[in-house]
Amino acid sequence: MRAPRAEAVVDLSAVAGNVRAIGDAVGAAEVMAVVKADGYGHGLVPSARAALAGGATWLGTAFPEEALALRAAGVTARVLTWLPTPGEDWDPVLAADVDVSVGAPGLLAEVEAAAVRTGRPARVHLEADTGLSRGGATPTTWPALVDAALRAQARGTVRLVGLWSHLACADEPEHPANAEQQARFADMLATAQAMGADPEVRHLAGSAGALHLPGTRYDLVRAGIATYGLAPAPAVAGPAALGLVPAMTLVAHLSLVKRVAAGKGVSYGHTETTARETTLGVVPLGYGDGVPRHASSTGPVLVAGERRRVVGRVCMDQVIVDLGADAVTAGEPAVLFGPGRHGEPTAQDWADAAGTISYEVVTRIGARVPRTYE
Ligand code: PLP
Repeated sequence: MRAPRAEAVVDLSAVAGNVRAIGDAVGAAEVMAVVKADGYGHGLVPSARAALAGGATWLGTAFPEEALALRAAGVTARVLTWLPTPGEDWDPVLAADVDVSVGAPGLLAEVEAAAVRTGRPARVHLEADTGLSRGGATPTTWPALVDAALRAQARGTVRLVGLWSHLACADEPEHPANAEQQARFADMLATAQAMGADPEVRHLAGSAGALHLPGTRYDLVRAGIATYGLAPAPAVAGPAALGLVPAMTLVAHLSLVKRVAAGKGVSYGHTETTARETTLGVVPLGYGDGVPRHASSTGPVLVAGERRRVVGRVCMDQVIVDLGADAVTAGEPAVLFGPGRHGEPTAQDWADAAGTISYEVVTRIGARVPRTYE
C-alpha cells in the first residue's frame, strides 16, 4: 500500500502531558482544555479525550455545535461554549448539559426561554468585557446583566455558574493592558458578588495568562494553544522551557524529484530563479491544505535530514523545495513541522516564516490532510 500523500500525525500522549504540565504550573486552578476549531486542527474528540486523560476537568468551545459534537461522541465532562449566534437553537444545548456564556441581556432571555421549554435550568457563565472590546458586558452594562441573571436564578431558570473575561495582551506579559484588565475584572467580580452572585468558577486566563501571569489564574484557566504544546508567548519562553511538547507533525512524501538547469524560474510568477543547476523536490501540500502562501520562498522543510526551504510561491496543492546536490528520491518524507526534536521545523518556525502565529498554522491544516493518532 502506498504511503499517504500527507498526514498530520497527532501525538495524543503529548496532549495529555501538556495538560498535566499546565495543571502543575497553575496550582489549585482547574484546567479547561480549549478544543474549538477541531482541537486547533488536532481533532476535536481525540484532543478532548487526551486532555481529559491529562487532568483537564473542563472543555471549552467557541460554538455550541462544537460542544454538541463532543456530547454526540459520548464526552460527559463539563463543556463551556462562548460564541452563540443570535437565535441559536438552545434546547439541544441545554438538554446536553452544556454550560453557556452570556454577555448580554438579550441572550440571557433566549437561554432562559429554552430553560423554561426544556425544564432544565441553564448553566450560565456571565462574560465581562474588561478591555478586549469583544464579547461581554462592559463595566457600564455589567450590573444590569448580573441583576437579570440573579433574577433568573431566583426563578430557577438559570444557575449562575461562572463569571469570566478574556485578556487582550497576555502574550506580552509586560503589556500594561494586563494589569488594567486584571484590576477591572476584580472590580466587576466585586460588583457581582456585592449584588449576591456566588459563582462556582471565576476565569480570566488563556494559555499565556495561565503560564505567565499568576494573578489571572483564579479558579480555572482556559488553555488552548499550550494544550497542543505550542508556546502562547514565544518571545518569552519556548515550548520546552514550559514543559510542553508540540503534538502535531505535518509530513508529506515527495511526489517528484528532478534536476533542473541554472537560471530556471520556479513556481508561479517566477518569483525565484535557480542560481545553479540543482535538484528540486515537489512536496504535495499547498495552501489548499492550509500551508500559508505567505511562507512562499521562506517556509522550512526537513528532507533527508537537512532543512530545506520552499522555493518560489506556495501553490494550492504543492510546494517546491531545493534539494541542492543531494541524492534524494521521490517518496522521501518531507516534514514541514513537528516537535523539533529531530531537526524538523516547528509550527512556530512556519508562523515566523509566514508572518503569523502558530495558532493559525495548526488550525488551518485542512480536512484534506488526514489526521492519524499515536
Ligand atoms: N478563552 C477564549 C475565550 C478564547 O477565545 C481562547 C482562544 O482564542 C482561549 C481561551 C484559549 O486561548 P489560548 O489558545 O491562547 O490558550
